[in-house]
Amino acid sequence: MSAAPAAAARVVALAGGVGAARFLAGLVRVVDPASLTAIVNTGDDRVFYGVHVSPDLDIVTYTLAGRVDREKGYGLAGDSFAVIDALAALGHPTWFRLGDRDLATGLHRTLRLADGAGLAEIADEVRRAYRVDTRILPMSEDPCPTYVELRGGRRAHFEEYLARDGAPDEVIAVDCLAARRARPAPGVIDAIRGADVLLVCPSNPVVSIGPILAVAGVRDAIAASRAPVVAVSPIVGGAPVKGPADRLLRGIGVEVSARGVAGLYRDWVDGFVLDQRDAEQRADVEALGLRAHVTDTIMRSPETAARLAAEVLELARAL
Ligand code: GDP
Repeated sequence: MSAAPAAAARVVALAGGVGAARFLAGLVRVVDPASLTAIVNTGDDRVFYGVHVSPDLDIVTYTLAGRVDREKGYGLAGDSFAVIDALAALGHPTWFRLGDRDLATGLHRTLRLADGAGLAEIADEVRRAYRVDTRILPMSEDPCPTYVELRGGRRAHFEEYLARDGAPDEVIAVDCLAARRARPAPGVIDAIRGADVLLVCPSNPVVSIGPILAVAGVRDAIAASRAPVVAVSPIVGGAPVKGPADRLLRGIGVEVSARGVAGLYRDWVDGFVLDQRDAEQRADVEALGLRAHVTDTIMRSPETAARLAAEVLELARAL
């Protein structure tokens, strides 16, 4: 455990998509955005319409750029859908509805990959083009698709499970094997080693944080770090704020609750922030050996996210 981080502390955050992006948009209001590195899940990456889409990298980038479609939480505000509609008219399945400008990001990524560039370099190009000061790193440059295993012997890529099939409550296991075999992207381990504070965004614990931790060396680097590690619960009042975290947690046999997530993280996290609606679980979280902080964790706006981020940093400082 380190002493109180200095003003220009290097903050590293493990991030998924929408929940993480909202939290990071608050965090950059209370820390120097350039001192922050987000290590982002790429287990949701998939080729759609011939282009490499990295949903979580793009959500984080667009949100930090202030360009995200705030209602949906992903995609670009005001984007048009001419390409996807034309593809649908040509008979293509278009359950993954990408806007035209969003598609351009994926196309850029695909073209640059074909040039021999790595996913980390490309993520950096995209965030600079969107004028984002925060460093956005993919967890790995190797393919790490997350698969969801369902009753009846079915198996689906996470995006097929979520966007195509509507996230049915039939999960029996989640397969992050590819992430386990993947190497961390350049910069990931150094960022963790150099961190003064490590944060875990309110993200899906199973398919966003799980894959990042599965990547070779990440868990060991966190364990070896002297930085305090603080997580924010993505489960509020016994349910996710949004998304299928309940179905996935149940599928892997974890209680759908703040304390369930704290139990999942207990070996590598020092502090845990839970929502005021779950205040009665504070003692359970502390019994796991974690320092707990109870507050309103619902991020209704960048301002409320900033207040939450400040409290999370405060807990980290106290560790
Ligand atoms: P996804 O990959 O786009 O679903 O995004 P993430 O993995 O980053 O986040 C999904 C998780 O964030 C879900 O479990 C949500 O419950 C959680 N989440 C979203 N908004 C909020 C919020 O305002 N507060 C809290 N505490 N959790 C949130």
